[in-house]
Amino acid sequence: MATVAETPHPPKILHTECFIDGQWRPAVSGKTFETVNPATEEVICEVAEGDAADVDAAVKAARRALESGPWNRMDARDRGRCMYRLADLIEAEVDELAALETLDNGKPIRESRHADLPLVIDCIRYYAGYADKIHGSTIPIRGNYFTYTRREPVGVAGQIIPWNFPMLMTAWKWGPALAAGCTIVMKPAEQTPLTCLRMAQLAKEAGIPDGVINIVPGYGPTAGASVVKHPGVDKIAFTGEHRTAQIIMREAADTLKRLTFELGGKSPNVVLADADLDRAAKGSYVGLFLNQGQCCCAGSRVFVHKSVHAEFVSKVKELAKNRKVGNPFSIDTEQGPQVDKAQFDKIMSYIDKGNAEGANCIAGGGRAGDRGYFVQPTVFDGVSDSMAIAQDEIFGPVMSILTFEDWEDLIRRANNTFYGLAAAIWTRNVSNAHEFAKRVRAGTVWVNCYDVFDAAAPFGGFKMSGQGRELGEEGLKAYTECKTVTVSLD
Ligand code: ADP
Repeated sequence: MATVAETPHPPKILHTECFIDGQWRPAVSGKTFETVNPATEEVICEVAEGDAADVDAAVKAARRALESGPWNRMDARDRGRCMYRLADLIEAEVDELAALETLDNGKPIRESRHADLPLVIDCIRYYAGYADKIHGSTIPIRGNYFTYTRREPVGVAGQIIPWNFPMLMTAWKWGPALAAGCTIVMKPAEQTPLTCLRMAQLAKEAGIPDGVINIVPGYGPTAGASVVKHPGVDKIAFTGEHRTAQIIMREAADTLKRLTFELGGKSPNVVLADADLDRAAKGSYVGLFLNQGQCCCAGSRVFVHKSVHAEFVSKVKELAKNRKVGNPFSIDTEQGPQVDKAQFDKIMSYIDKGNAEGANCIAGGGRAGDRGYFVQPTVFDGVSDSMAIAQDEIFGPVMSILTFEDWEDLIRRANNTFYGLAAAIWTRNVSNAHEFAKRVRAGTVWVNCYDVFDAAAPFGGFKMSGQGRELGEEGLKAYTECKTVTVSLD
């Protein structure tokens, strides 16, 4: 199993403090917390544990930068240029950043280097291009008036992100906020603060003025909650669990903040009888096991038509059994450890529940190795809708296979969850594909593919999987306020 010593080029850890008003500062309390390498269970380093006082300083810096700093006076085109420079600096350090992500999060280096980082760079560049293209409209109204709208920055954006894609979530949050001219107070996840802090340094080097981006590492109920409650914050953009979103919604009520949420899922992934089964099996395998199963959109309920069930199951079982689990720094590793012990324990408890409730474990089902938070790629067949493994978000490498025969029954079962983040269908029948896309209650639908992301394509959830959308033009609008101006022409 992996050790830090097996890391060919250990990444440098340059920043572990709060980043406020362009300066690195210890937490006001002087407290720190440990961030751990999940592959070895060893402490990587101590990080400043921010709390209310640090958040207050960060919000004040963000408000100054919003209202009176150079960011506020900067031409939109120059704001875009700062963002392009940030993307260039990230690109220049792509190997170092990927290694730091893998060290802190455990994801295989081939994913952090060749999937996450390219998406990060693309997202910042995509939104950089938007900075000087945000405009309102002229609107004919009754009477002798000239009416137009302006799209203005929503203000100080409080951004709270999870640990599963630390850099990518940072980019998804910074891109639209910076393009719109907002300023930022970000709280990275306590499990994975290191790459976000490194990105803050690169933002400074890119010429993004002091106070525009502020980072307060720390825990959710302290640092995170302080961002949510602070009256100087105009909007909260949150990615994480729906239960945390419910707390945030209640706590944001006093100040009526704008809220966007991207939450969990229990996404249906449907294989019809006419599907290309090799493609469907490989796609379903990636759709579930990518990132150790730690994806909010993971296709964790795989509905397979009874007529192709046996063939599909044998293909997926083979793929799962051959999956390379181990040192995330080895270039051929496909699956690293889960992010921490809490997640590891949660996943193991769901595997126990699956067995106890009578599902048939056909691959994996246990811990991998004896050090680090590694879980064997696990597949349950014979799963029924009421089992815990078919209802709850496991957020780990555990696939549940269910069978169906009737189309109407399939649609009903696919929608029979309070989540609605993503869905997929594998078929050669165009009509069925489009009918499914129309009737499934999910924010993203993939047809004959899975996990296709692009900065231009909006992403977010129906029902309890979220509120609002990230990415694309929708994601940008969520960082603007619409102002209507009416001029009398009499
Ligand atoms: P996960 O299970 O993926 O860790 P969470 O919703 O618990 O999901 O965490 C996502 C992010 O939300 C993390 O940065 C976490 O620190 C933060 N968080 C957790 N609880 C709160 C809270 N009460 N208020 C604000 N942020 C929180």
